[in-house]
Amino acid sequence: MEIVFLGNGGGRIVLDQQILPTAGFRINSKNFKMHVDPGPGALVKSIEHKQTPWELDALFVSHCHIDHCNDANMMIESLNFGNFRGGRGTLIGAESVVNGKGTFEKQLDDYFKNMLKLCKPLSASQTHKFSDSISIKATKTVHEDPSDIGFVLSIEGLKIGYTSDTEYFQGISEEYEGCDFLIFNCLRPDNDHLEFHFSSQDVIKTVNGMKTKPLAIFITHLGMKFLNAGKEAQQKKIEENTGVKTMLASEGLKVDLHELSSKQKKLV
Ligand SMILES: [Zn+2]
Repeated sequence: MEIVFLGNGGGRIVLDQQILPTAGFRINSKNFKMHVDPGPGALVKSIEHKQTPWELDALFVSHCHIDHCNDANMMIESLNFGNFRGGRGTLIGAESVVNGKGTFEKQLDDYFKNMLKLCKPLSASQTHKFSDSISIKATKTVHEDPSDIGFVLSIEGLKIGYTSDTEYFQGISEEYEGCDFLIFNCLRPDNDHLEFHFSSQDVIKTVNGMKTKPLAIFITHLGMKFLNAGKEAQQKKIEENTGVKTMLASEGLKVDLHELSSKQKKLV
């Protein structure tokens, strides 16, 4: 099973100028393939990196911000070859994305929603079972879009956590307890706090607050200030302060999670 990053950028400057791509990431196992947060460029980067959307089983769209949901309709279209082979794919997303909530208008056109096999909004702590061995549990966030969700995906004996966009809150470590791998959307460096977002210091606090730390963590959704501070220096800082292998996401980065899991377990 592998994780494939198709983008690693976040925040307005990086997004608007495409300083880094904002196409999300894929989790691919033999029997299950999911694209997470298809921001602008998701289709193009998928094709470029041979991550064919028509093989997807699921799409996960965490919230209504455009760097997470822009290509959602497009990915549904590609997954189904239009209506030519409609009725494929499960979309799991925030209530705002699927139906609209408060000031956040829904991001999926009914035309595309109707192509899916299933389109299901989840709120924090709700679970969806894809099969007997694969399930996804939505996690809590504190973000501008109040229905924003992260997840813990249980698949092939591994637990993969994704924080989505959030700021640090009391209890976030517990949300991801038991995860083998954790993917953080970390916009800012050091303790440079921005409301609704994570900084490197927040990553350190979250990991150190866990009873059992993950085997490895991935840092993505990097903003301009994070880049200016030096992304390798931030990665090193997080790794040194948590004692957990820390990897910076980059376009096209592909990691075999079972292989990484056994490698890290040997080191413990
Ligand atoms: Zn956001």
